Formats: sequence, C-alpha cells, structure tokens
Amino acid sequence: MDGEAFRHWAHVAANWAADYRAGLKDRPVRAGTRPGEIAAQLPASAPEEAEPMADIFADFERILVPGMTHWQHPRFFAYFPANASPASVIGEFLSSAMGAQCLLWQTSPAATELEIVALGWLRQAVGLPEGFSGVIQDSASSATLCAFLTMRERALGFTGNRTGLSGRPQLRVYTSSEVHSSIDRAAWFCGIGDDNLVRIPTQGPLRSMVPEALEAAIQADKAAGFVPAGVVACVGGTSTGAMDDVAAVVEVAHRYGLFVHVDAAWAGSAMVCPEFRPLWAGVEQADSIVLNPHKWLGVQFDCSAHFLRSPDDHLATLAIQPEYLKTHAHDGIVNFSEWTIQLGRRFRALKLWFVLRAHGLEGLRQMIRNHVGWSQALAARIAAEPGFALASTPVLSLFAFRHDPGDGRDGDAHMLALLQAINDGGQLYLTPTRVDGRLAIRFQAGSMEATQADVDAAFDIIRDTARALS
Ligand code: PLP
Repeated sequence: MDGEAFRHWAHVAANWAADYRAGLKDRPVRAGTRPGEIAAQLPASAPEEAEPMADIFADFERILVPGMTHWQHPRFFAYFPANASPASVIGEFLSSAMGAQCLLWQTSPAATELEIVALGWLRQAVGLPEGFSGVIQDSASSATLCAFLTMRERALGFTGNRTGLSGRPQLRVYTSSEVHSSIDRAAWFCGIGDDNLVRIPTQGPLRSMVPEALEAAIQADKAAGFVPAGVVACVGGTSTGAMDDVAAVVEVAHRYGLFVHVDAAWAGSAMVCPEFRPLWAGVEQADSIVLNPHKWLGVQFDCSAHFLRSPDDHLATLAIQPEYLKTHAHDGIVNFSEWTIQLGRRFRALKLWFVLRAHGLEGLRQMIRNHVGWSQALAARIAAEPGFALASTPVLSLFAFRHDPGDGRDGDAHMLALLQAINDGGQLYLTPTRVDGRLAIRFQAGSMEATQADVDAAFDIIRDTARALS
C-alpha cells in the first residue's frame, strides 16, 4: 500500500468509525450469530495474491461487523464497561501509525517520559500520594501476576527466579472469594498454586474480608510451617462490587511483613471522584494497586495502570539486562520493560494522555457520577417493583437482582430464561452472576454513551420481559 492509498483508506476507516458510533444505538447490543457462522464465510487459507482494499473493507462490513457485540453501545450494561472514547481511539491510531516499540527509554524517549507524566497525573487524580510510581500494563491480569511474582520472590529472599521452586517452603497468599479469577490464575502461574491461595471469610453488605480471620489464618499457617507471602485486597469485586476494608487488611498484613496488592481494576477509576475514596481508605499503605483506565475512564483497551509504592522489589523480581538491552549511556533512566512481563511494549500512554486532556478530570468525574446516580436510582426502582428483589447492595454503578414470578419458578432456570429473553431482545445486554449460591442478573452502567433515558429504558425492558415470562 503506497502513501496515497494509506491516506485514502485511513480516511475511509475514520468515516466508517464516525458513522458506526453515530449509528450504534440502532444496532442490537449483542451479536446474534451462532457459533461458527462467521468463520464459515471466510476462506480456509490466506490469499496467495494481494487483494484490493475495497474487497477487504467490504468483507469487513458484510461479514464481520454483524458478528460483533457492541461494547460502545449506550445500552451495554454487561460485564464491566470497556469504553473507547473517540479521543482515545485517535491516540491509539497515532500510536499504531508510528508503530514504535517502547521497551527502553532509548527506543522511544517520548513514550517513556509521557508514561511517567500521564501516570503521575492519574495518580494525583485518584488521590494516591506522591511516592507511588506507575507503569502501564496491558491488563489487570498481568499487573496481578507481576504482584504475585514479587510476593513470591520477596518471601523467598529473591532466589526463586534463580533456583526454581522445587524443595522450597510452601508460600501462602490470602484473599477473599470475591476476587476476580485473574487472582486465581496468578496464583497458578507463579507456582504458588490454588491450594495455597487461602480464602478468608467475608462479612457485611460489602462482603469485606474479615481482618481477624485474616490474622488467624496467617498465624495458623506460620505455626504449621507455611510461609505467608502476601494478601490481595478487593476494591470492587466483579460479581457484586465487594469492597475489602483496605486499611484493616494492610494493618494486619504489614504486621506480618506481607506484601499487599489491591485489585481495583474496575472501581479504581471512580476514585477520580473524592466522595468515593472512603471506599478504598488505607490504599496509600498498599504495596501494589491496579486500576484499569480501559474499563471506566474511557481509554481504549488496553491500558491498565499499575501503581507501586516502592518499585525496588518489583524490579528485583522482573528486571533482566542482557547485553542487547543495556542502556550504557543512560544508567538510572526508567526502562519500563523491566517493570512488565512483556519486553516489547506499545505506546499506551498516548491514548491515556489524549483522554485526560480531551475530557479533563471534571468531565470524567461527571461521567462517573452520572453512572453511579442512574444505576443506584434504577436499583431502587427495581427493588420497589413487585416480584423483584436486589441480590446485592448497590456499589457505585453495580448491583445484582432477582425476579420471582410468584409461581414457585424463582430459581436459577427462571433467572436464566429472563436473562436470555432480555438479551435476545437486542435492546440491552446484561450478564449473570451467582450470589450466595443462587443465580442473579448483574447491572452496571458504565458506557460513556449511556444517558438517563437508556437506564430508564432498561427498567421498562427488564420489568416488561419479566411480566411476559410470568
Ligand atoms: N479484576 C477485576 C475486579 C475485574 O473485574 C477484571 C475484569 O473484568 C479483572 C481484574 C481483569 O481485568 P483485565 O481484563 O484487565 O485483565
């Protein structure tokens, strides 16, 4: 493709993207395709000869777009949001256009320096004190894995990487049952293992880890010869938004020398609003915190902010300097590939910087306050509607509910039927969860395109669909 063709097709793509965004509300939120339907329309092998861009673009529109679930749709109320604000899409386009590798300072000085500056802005925006250093990870799962590796290495005196894990004492990490599955996977991948991920019971409407139970578990493990390594605290659990009392967890953990990682992948973005910060009080004492601007701050996926109170242990765990990665003339400079698992790194700070400037913190705060206000009002309406009940205490913009048709069919099968009927209608997209052993439907408002009217429409659709099934 020559320069003029690139210019032409970039314009075509930009026009397509603007039209797509403008027409989103007229599309069904969720793809209605059956498994295999899209692949069946595609050739089994790559073409030997170059094909015209017009044909490729036409197939993209004809075959692939109908098979997409529209995450930017104003009525996407499923999972957590993955907002890609137009400003972040433009930042991402420029980053792709340059195609730079940002592994070392010298491989793209501006990328490293912007990452330091933009994460400094974000640190201040969410109220974290000076002293925390940030790095952009691809996802919260990667940040959490890095935190587990650091916990492991600290507990093993930084010898695990060198000598392996065989014959070493069994390490323990403590968390609740409310954490995301990325915590389980990090325990698997770093060799600590499922059996050594100790689940501490929770209490109260926010399903917070019981600090006394945490302490008792640490003491019992020490007495039994295990080596406690760390704690993962939950700030905004995926299922119902569970919130640990971070201050209490850190107090216990640090008393025993344990490393504390806080998973605030979703809820961390809400901390741009000072009124929500009591939800993670004590976080300034944590050792590692992850929050995802790619969820609720409008930064196109992927962009996960990982803040470290003292990066030394993290670097002692992850950094390696073969000759070809040495930066002789620039010792002391930040080389972010030493902070992450991947070596090659994209220029993700660019889209974060575009978003922070294009929306301003006040714009982002307003968006989050709207989502929280609309969602909590919807929860109150659903709770007051005959046949409905909340299954969880609303937390920020997330809650779960159940419906009882009044004929004994209030079990999981009815909830699944209701969920399926709502989603098949195409006007909303909701996802299930299990609360206290029973199926419930989750609702979260988080799309940047959502309005009060969309959330009001959700109420009508949920109520009417439940009535139709009753
Ligand atoms: N932590 C929480 C609370 C989440 O809800 C999620 C995903 O939704 C994750 C971690 C994993 O995030 P990522 O997709 O960035 O790895």
